[in-house]
Amino acid sequence: MTENITEQDIIMVVTPHPDDSESSSGGTISKWCAQGKKVILVVCTNGDKGTSDRSVKPEDLAATREVETLNAAKAYGLSDVVFLRLPDQQLEDNDEFREKLVRQIRIHKPRLLLTHDPNKPYIRHRDHSMTGRVALDAVFPYARDHVAYPEHLEEGIEPHKVEEVWLFRPEEPNHFVDVTDYFDTRQNALHSHVSQVGERSAERDERSRNRLVETGKKYGVELAEQFHRITLGRK
Ligand SMILES: [Zn+2]
Repeated sequence: MTENITEQDIIMVVTPHPDDSESSSGGTISKWCAQGKKVILVVCTNGDKGTSDRSVKPEDLAATREVETLNAAKAYGLSDVVFLRLPDQQLEDNDEFREKLVRQIRIHKPRLLLTHDPNKPYIRHRDHSMTGRVALDAVFPYARDHVAYPEHLEEGIEPHKVEEVWLFRPEEPNHFVDVTDYFDTRQNALHSHVSQVGERSAERDERSRNRLVETGKKYGVELAEQFHRITLGRK
C-alpha cells in the first residue's frame, strides 16, 4: 500500500472542473511533481457555472478559472495543462467526450491516470461521475485499440496502454500516499482557485490539515490522501 512509481513516470490527471484535484489529491500531485514526475492536468469543462454570485458573467468566470488553474499548475510544478472547454454541468458519457480523452491519453502516453471515482451513489456532481466513467472507458479499451477512433492513426497519434488508474474520493479506498511533507504546496495550489475556495488563511489551512490527519490516522502517517487503485498491467 505504498507508491511504487518510477522516475520516468508520466501521470495524467483528468478532472471536469479546474479545482477538483487539489482538495482530493493535491498533496499527492505535489509529491509527484517534487519527485520530478511529468504530471499533465486535463480539465474537461470550462467551469463557468461554479459560482453562487449572480453578478458574475459565465464567460468571465471561465476566463478567471483558467488563470487560476495555471497559477495552481505553477504552484505544483505541473508539466502541462490541457483545457477541453466542454460546457460545465453538461458532460455526457458519449462519443464526443470519450474521443477527446482517448486523444489526450494517446498524445501524452501516461503510465498512470488519476480521476474521479464514478461509483458514488446518491448525491454527487454529475460531471464528476461522467468524467470518472468516460476516463476509465477511454483507458480501456479505447486508447489501447487501434480500431477505436482510427482517425487518430491518420494524424500520427498511436494507441497507448495505461498501466494504472487511481480514483480520488474513493468509495472503496485500497491505497494511500503519505503527503506529510507536501501540505504547503498543496495549500498553495488549492488556494490558487480564489474564486472557489478564497485566499489561503490559517483557519482554512487548519481545516484542510484536519481532514488529512483523519486519513493519516488510518494508515499510521501524519497526513495522507487515499485512493482506489486499479492495476491494468501491460496487456
Ligand atoms: Zn468539480
